[in-house]
Amino acid sequence: MIPPQMTGRFYTESSVNSGLRCTLCPHHCGLLPGKAGLCRVRWGGQKTPDKPEAPELPYYGYITALALDPVEKKPLYHWRPGSAILSAGFAGCNLRCPFCQNWRISQSTEAPGRYRKPEDLTEEAAASLCDQIAYTYSEPLVHAEYLLDCMKAARDKGFANILVTNGCVSAEAAKVILSHTNAVNVDLKCFSQKTYSEVLGGDLWAVLDFIRLAVTMDVHTEITTLVVPGLNDGEKELTEIAEFIAGLAAGSGMDAAVPWHLSAYHPDWKWKTPVTNAALLSARAARARKILPYVYTGNIPGEHNDTHCPHCKAVLVQRRGYSIDTSGIILEKENGTVYRCAHCGKKAPIAG
Ligand code: SF4
Ligand code: SF4
Repeated sequence: MIPPQMTGRFYTESSVNSGLRCTLCPHHCGLLPGKAGLCRVRWGGQKTPDKPEAPELPYYGYITALALDPVEKKPLYHWRPGSAILSAGFAGCNLRCPFCQNWRISQSTEAPGRYRKPEDLTEEAAASLCDQIAYTYSEPLVHAEYLLDCMKAARDKGFANILVTNGCVSAEAAKVILSHTNAVNVDLKCFSQKTYSEVLGGDLWAVLDFIRLAVTMDVHTEITTLVVPGLNDGEKELTEIAEFIAGLAAGSGMDAAVPWHLSAYHPDWKWKTPVTNAALLSARAARARKILPYVYTGNIPGEHNDTHCPHCKAVLVQRRGYSIDTSGIILEKENGTVYRCAHCGKKAPIAG
């Protein structure tokens, strides 16, 4: 199928060389005709008698990866535990993290892929007997227009939309996309604007604003930090992140704290330091648990990442890798969806 020629929103006219300025993310790239912005997937468009100048989206609908994953792989631990999710990935990204584990699709538009209409994803999810779609793997937000079209098609059929993102996007785009999102996992990569700007090519303040907005808009939110030796593994910086996350629940009226996933890194692309030390990661997680109730470790063999009832401390969800035992929770669907502790009957900190 030939992809449609799509034009983008989120731009203003620029006085520089009569091009456009993309306003989707804090880079605010100038887009000259035939030239791509930093994310590689939003291009300057050519004005014609029939068409005003607008960004062109040559990768609209171009899916580079599609798989059925456990929701725990996103990672989401407090959202529909044990469920499956159709997961779609895209070319391009607005950041350039030197340890990117998906750099072949995030830093290139050459990876093989194929065009899918927005409603195709919903149909593929239904064919796989799952009722939720994740936009994930690289950075979905740089495909905001396609993302919105997919999310609307999915919502119309009663499917949930899950976003896995770096959160580095303008407030205008964040607001509209989050209004169609049921759950989000945001990568909060460090707590230093210098590292964001000089190493990752991003903007800490935009990411923090995105997370605050998701929580304020009542989107189920979890946060992941890849703990990279020499970049962000110091106790002070990780404690600052934990305190920021603790402040989200305190200021929002949420009835459950935001879960935090501390994941071990392995060398990839340009970052060659050895893997994250498992003992150090466990120590950092133990320190964070003095501030936050739900801290999990990822990418460590043999890890135990159970969720306990905040009231009676019984195990709600037991996790051994991707083997999930949900016998500790009871799902009630009478007045909306409520998960309860199977032991004490009180509301569990789980959504869906
Ligand atoms: S979304 Fe892409 S083109 Fe737009 S400002 Fe960000 S990096 Fe530049
Ligand atoms: S934001 Fe994610 S996809 Fe983009 S470069 Fe960084 S790690 Fe890779």
